[in-house]
Amino acid sequence: MSKALRLSEKWFRRGLWLVALVFAGFLIGLGGTLVGDLPKVEKRLEIDDFLDRTVAERLREDIKRLERSAGDSQAALEQARLKHRVAQSDTRSASETFNNWLATRRVTQLSEQDPELIARTRALDGLRQSQRDAKSGVEAQEQAVLDARQAQARSRQQLQDMEEAAQKKLAAEYRRVELRVFLYRLALTLPLLVAAGWLFKKKRHSTYWPFVWGFIFFALFAFFVELVPYLPSYGGYVRYIVGIIVTALVGRQAIVSLNRYLERQKAAEQLPDAQRREELSYDTALARLAKGVCPGCERPVDLKSDKLDFCPHCGIGLFDHCGHCTTRKSAFAKFCHACGTGAASGPGAATGPGLTRLVPGPA
Ligand SMILES: [Zn+2]
Ligand SMILES: [Zn+2]
Repeated sequence: MSKALRLSEKWFRRGLWLVALVFAGFLIGLGGTLVGDLPKVEKRLEIDDFLDRTVAERLREDIKRLERSAGDSQAALEQARLKHRVAQSDTRSASETFNNWLATRRVTQLSEQDPELIARTRALDGLRQSQRDAKSGVEAQEQAVLDARQAQARSRQQLQDMEEAAQKKLAAEYRRVELRVFLYRLALTLPLLVAAGWLFKKKRHSTYWPFVWGFIFFALFAFFVELVPYLPSYGGYVRYIVGIIVTALVGRQAIVSLNRYLERQKAAEQLPDAQRREELSYDTALARLAKGVCPGCERPVDLKSDKLDFCPHCGIGLFDHCGHCTTRKSAFAKFCHACGTGAASGPGAATGPGLTRLVPGPA
């Protein structure tokens, strides 16, 4: 990137890149604060926004009430079962006593005991009756528990069906919200991106380039961090398609630029030597020579050889002789390194101290 060869200029350029980065950082911070302070465009949606609230509330109340009543019935059922067990064991012990008494009576055959027999049989019948009552009490409580549980299950099922339908609507709404959020962000980011593209095309070499590049970094950050993650996915289709389009555009631009560069280079190689020399900046030429390539065509040349005066690939003059002292010197040097005379390159060039006027030599 940096073509500067002067030491201080190099450091100034590095400092200016730092300015560009800091400028971008502050722009990003300002943009983030602005977006954060904007009124929230979308409220958070909940499943309750998509179902009949009164019906849902009633069902939820029912479920709670039935839960409570099932619990109460369950407790009553435990009580009834206990009562039944007590009645069972009362009956069992009473009937054992009765049987024993009956066996004794058979042995003694006392007929005056008949009224007692009737009384004892009645008492036993009474116990059996209360056992049956306790059993039907248990059955009634079992029925109550079952009713409560089934009613609760029905309400639950109804609520679940409603919630499933609402869930589908909520998911559809979320997709719409996602798209809206993306469009808001696009509306904010696209003008930045367009401005950055224009600045890159027209102003990237201007005097105020650090600010231009700072703005470009800011726009790229806004695009890749504030916009791309909000791109609706639609199962990955959109992201991949956008990726393919962006890659195709970038690739096409790279191919076009390469062809343009090659055409420019070819056209430049057709020009007369002096004109080509004039079009090359001094620093660019020196940087290319330092890398061991021809400053005209950027192909590798053997600069150490003392026989090589012209590039064998494009014919540009690489070495010539000082017009004053005839020392062999780089054709791109501005002054002769042996006598300090200002150099004009090419045969037929006017020479003299400090004079660098160029005249076209033979092509
Ligand atoms: Zn060359
Ligand atoms: Zn000289």
